[in-house]
Amino acid sequence: MSGSRVVIVGAGHAGGTAAALLRQYGYEGAITLIGDEPIPPYQRPPLSKAWLKGEADADSLALKPIEFYAEAGIDFRPSVTVTALDRGAKTVALSDGASLVYDHLILATGARAIALPIEGKDLAGILFLRTAADAEALKAQVGPGKTLVVVGGGYIGLEVAASGRALGAAVTVVEREARLLARVACEQLSDFFQARHEAEGVGFVLGATVTGFEGADGRVSGVRLDDGRLLACDAVVVGVGAAPNDELAKSAGLECARGVVVDLDARSVTDPAVFAIGDVACRPMPIYDRMFRMESVPNALEQAKQAASAITGRPRPAGECPWQWSDQYDVKLQIAGYAFEVDQIITRGDPASGRFALFHLQGDRVQAVEAINSPPEFMMGKTLILNRTPVDKAKLANPSISMKEVAA
Ligand SMILES: Cc1cc2nc3c(=O)[nH]c(=O)nc-3n(C[C@H](O)[C@H](O)[C@H](O)COP(=O)(O)OP(=O)(O)OC[C@H]3O[C@@H](n4cnc5c(N)ncnc54)[C@H](O)[C@@H]3O)c2cc1C
Repeated sequence: MSGSRVVIVGAGHAGGTAAALLRQYGYEGAITLIGDEPIPPYQRPPLSKAWLKGEADADSLALKPIEFYAEAGIDFRPSVTVTALDRGAKTVALSDGASLVYDHLILATGARAIALPIEGKDLAGILFLRTAADAEALKAQVGPGKTLVVVGGGYIGLEVAASGRALGAAVTVVEREARLLARVACEQLSDFFQARHEAEGVGFVLGATVTGFEGADGRVSGVRLDDGRLLACDAVVVGVGAAPNDELAKSAGLECARGVVVDLDARSVTDPAVFAIGDVACRPMPIYDRMFRMESVPNALEQAKQAASAITGRPRPAGECPWQWSDQYDVKLQIAGYAFEVDQIITRGDPASGRFALFHLQGDRVQAVEAINSPPEFMMGKTLILNRTPVDKAKLANPSISMKEVAA
C-alpha cells in the first residue's frame, strides 16, 4: 500500500482520529488531512463547557499536538476547503487551486449549526456554537451584567445556559416546544433539567417561536417572539440543531439521506472507494435495525475505526452501543442507546437526590438509558442494550439491588 493515498476531507474529531488510526494500523501510503479550520483537529464538547468558562485552551482541546502530524507522516493542510469531488477521476479540488488524486477518500465534513432565516438574522451579536472561533466570539459576550438569550432548549443550548450563569450573565432560554429537550429526552428528564436550571437563575420561555431579531446600530438588542413579546439582550446564541455537510457527496452523486449513506465499514453504499464518518454519515445501527445519523464523539471514533480497519484490511471492529454525554453545573448526564419504540420507562433512584437513571424499555429489553450522576447504571445499561439482554423490571427499579445483579 506504500504507493497509495488516502485523502481525508474534514479535520475534526472523526477525520483526525481516522488519520492517526490509519498509521497505527500500519498504513504505509500517503495520508492527506484537509481541514477548513486554521487549527489541528480538536474536541468540540468542551466548547460549550470548560472552554466557555475559561477552564480549557486550544492546546488542551487538541486531539494531538501539531508536531504529531509531521512525525506520523500525515500531510495536514489547515485552512483549506475541498471544493469538488470527481469520483470518476478519483480526485478532489482544493480551495488553494491544488488537486489531489486518491485511492480511498474519507468524508469527515461534520455538520454545521442551523441558522434561523428570520428578520435581523445578520445582526452582530447573534452567535452559533460549532467551532473554536465561535466559542471565542461567544466568550467575549458573556459575563457579569450581560444578558444572553439562548434560542433552543437542546443539550448545547442548555450547556451554554449553564456556562453563561457560571460566568455571571443573565440567561433566558426560548424553546419552541412545550418542554426542554423535547426531541431527545423523556418528560421526566426535561422537568429535572428545567428545575435544575431554574434553581441556578435561568429563565425559560417555552412553547414560543422566535420571529425576528431587533437591533440598534447593527447589533442585536432584542429577540421578538410570536406572541409579540420582546426579550431585551446583549447577545443571542442560536442552538436549534445541526445539518450534515453532505453537499460535496451529493454533488458527486453519492447516495445521501440527511447524511452520506454508508455500510457497517463506513463505506459509501454508492462507491467502494469512498467512506463517510462522524456527523456527516447516515449509518446502520444493527441493534435497532435501522439507519440514522448521530452527532456524538463516540460515534465519530467508532466510525473512524471502521473506515481505518476496512482500508488497512483489518477485521471489522465489534459493534458498539451508541452513547453520549452532557455536563451542566454538577450534573453529569450519560446517555446510552436511543429510545426507539419504547413502551415503558423505569426510574431507578430518586430524582430529588440528583442521582437517578431512566431506563427506556421495549418489552423486557433496554433500548436506552439516561443516567444522571449514575455511572454504574450507564455502564451496565450499555451492556444490556448492546447484548439485547432481557431484564427483570422489578429488580431494575430497585436501587438497592446492584446493577451487576440486575444484569446477571
Ligand atoms: C458545542 C458542542 C458541544 C458538544 N458536546 C458534545 C458532548 O458533550 N458529547 C458528545 O458526544 N458530543 C458532543 N458534541 C458533538 C461532537 O463534537 C461531534 O459529534 C463531533 O465533533 C463530530 O465529529 P466530526 O469529525 O464528524 O465533525 P466535526 O468535528 O464537526 O469536524 C468536521 C470538520 O470538517 C470541516 N469541513 C467541512 N467541510 C469541509 C470541506 N469541504 N473541506 C475541508 N474541511 C471541511 C469542518 O469545518 C470541521 O472542521 C458537541 C458538539 C458541539 C458543537
